[in-house]
Amino acid sequence: MLSELKPPSRILMGPGPSDVHPHVLKAMATPLVGHLDPSFLEIMNETMQLMRIVFETENRLTVAMSGTGSAGMETVFVNLVEPGDKVMIGVNGLFGTRMVDVAERCGAEVVQVKGEWGDIIYPEQIEEALKAHPDTVIVAVVHAETSTGVLQPLQEIADIVHQYGALLLVDAVTSLGGIHVSIDKVGIDACYSGTQKCISAPPGLSPVTFNERALEKMARRKSKVQSWYLDLSMIQNYWGKERFYHHTAPISMVYALREALRIIVNDGLEETIERHWRYGKILQNGIEAMGLKLHVEEGKRLPELTSIVIPEGVDDLAVRKNLLNQYGIEIGGGLGELKGKIWRVGLMGYSCQLRNVVLFLSAFEEVLREQGYKAPKGVIESVVRPDNLMFTN
Ligand code: PLP
Repeated sequence: MLSELKPPSRILMGPGPSDVHPHVLKAMATPLVGHLDPSFLEIMNETMQLMRIVFETENRLTVAMSGTGSAGMETVFVNLVEPGDKVMIGVNGLFGTRMVDVAERCGAEVVQVKGEWGDIIYPEQIEEALKAHPDTVIVAVVHAETSTGVLQPLQEIADIVHQYGALLLVDAVTSLGGIHVSIDKVGIDACYSGTQKCISAPPGLSPVTFNERALEKMARRKSKVQSWYLDLSMIQNYWGKERFYHHTAPISMVYALREALRIIVNDGLEETIERHWRYGKILQNGIEAMGLKLHVEEGKRLPELTSIVIPEGVDDLAVRKNLLNQYGIEIGGGLGELKGKIWRVGLMGYSCQLRNVVLFLSAFEEVLREQGYKAPKGVIESVVRPDNLMFTN
């Protein structure tokens, strides 16, 4: 006989998933209705409206795809790319690399614009590459590169991409709800996100949004979208007025997303984003005050994901294991070429709280001390002073 499921209590401060707000957990435990029930259709309408607020868009095609963030990534590529299309992708981390793989599987001719894993993709790089490849139809970049902690500025790139008549596609899996994505203001043509990072619902849905330019490209397709499950021409008819059955919506996940977005909108999108900047900065100040180096330079850092260079002689795995076992705190290790070189600490959504910052810094100091790394004494007290808590970005 197995006992009832009882996962351990954790504080999720890794690169995702983040802690889920108790109200979201409660929403998920409410009874199911049918996926075509009039009450559920209303819930879908509200969820679409809330997604538009957080994406900062008026786009009518704004829906939540069934599946995690990677399903959103596949959705934008399979719907927008036709075999032979030239697609330019900024690659400065693991998720740019994944986009290349996905685009190639759609038959795209991919042009990679490479950057350091820890730096941004520079607008001049995109411009130069577009000069060399003026037949590019889509340019894709990652807004918040979770594998490095870099915040990719978008406006200049958007302007250049549009000068060349291409569409801008953005990965906002780790940015949505944590920093401004500003779809309409920036002019992003297609974007996908996930529920498990700064939205703070469990992994399982992927909000996507497409503007009219992207819809026109989809309408001009000569070939069928190769994925039946992710074909937006059919998904739209379920989320739209027609309400045609396509697949059974993951009802409880839609409840979760609606509640998570409702919390963000009720707290205020501006306030929520400001909270990420404020606590992200306090965390980063604290880590630097401990004499540790951050992987990304100031001004290019994400507030919701901080990458710390592992000091020489300190055992990566032992630190992560001790944080988890002694304090219940989960953080992430490095991925790809940064494996064994950095730790990744998330402050996303409901996990982005001052008490988590203070707890993490104290526990981290202790765990590092066990590893022979001594931070100057009293730094945490001096960093997390009440006047620092007034910090605004
Ligand atoms: N894109 C970025 C920037 C991510 O951080 C992630 C997940 O960490 C993904 C895409 C893929 O999302 P998922 O793991 O939810 O499929």
